[in-house]
Amino acid sequence: MSLSRVNTSAATLTKNRTDGSVSPISGMCVTCVDGCIGMCEIGKSAFRGHEVIYPQPFGVITTAAEKDYPIDYSHINIMGGVVGAQGIEADSDKAVFPNVNLEARFGHDGGIKFRYPWIIPGIGSTDVAKNNWEGLAIGSALAGTGLTIGENVSGMDPASVIKDGLVVDTADLKRRVQLFQDHQRDGYGAIIVQTNVEGTRLGEHEFVRLGGADRGDWRGRMVGEFRGLTSKMTVASFLFPMTQYYRIFMRSGVSTKPGQPQWQ
Ligand code: SF4
Repeated sequence: MSLSRVNTSAATLTKNRTDGSVSPISGMCVTCVDGCIGMCEIGKSAFRGHEVIYPQPFGVITTAAEKDYPIDYSHINIMGGVVGAQGIEADSDKAVFPNVNLEARFGHDGGIKFRYPWIIPGIGSTDVAKNNWEGLAIGSALAGTGLTIGENVSGMDPASVIKDGLVVDTADLKRRVQLFQDHQRDGYGAIIVQTNVEGTRLGEHEFVRLGGADRGDWRGRMVGEFRGLTSKMTVASFLFPMTQYYRIFMRSGVSTKPGQPQWQ
């Protein structure tokens, strides 16, 4: 039994001609006819090729998989205790929601601190990210959490200045970082720059990293413009695997002791 949906999806704007009578192993109609205009992924890709590589309409959507996982959160019950308290005095006036502390610290010296143990993953060069950046950046900064700028923003920015194959200026990337930093409070949260092959070739990380590779005249300017953007952030973008997300998440919802980071 396949847990995946094959050969047809709203993500590729495709469907079967004989919807409901489909071969499970291929996803093809049980009677694939000569002359079909090719509404399924196999048919459409034969005619329109690259249009079925990316989910459509590209640039204005976020996407998810249609795979049917045999377990989800609805299979799990969280059985809360009704007697006593952990991490705080067993006093109904003290063990209250506003006293829950979800602060998390991480990094080699615990120097990156979040008020809440979550992070928004890479939102990059699409219009979805660009059009919603104010809300994402300001909201994350005020909340003291993490926000990740997705890949290759400087490469997709029409206002970028590229010299000798390296980015020396980019309005969009600067705006995204600046918007977060302008609303950051007490050093909580982090704005993280993620990159891919194209961004790496353009030297995107070096561009945003203070004290990074010297790239002539831009460096001094960037130090000023990206004040507060520490090398920790760039390091974090490399060293923030899923295990770390998981660790932060799992180790943070258990204490109700105010003012006490739970782990470092
Ligand atoms: S090309 Fe064949 S399998 Fe695809 S929709 Fe048409 S009939 Fe069905």
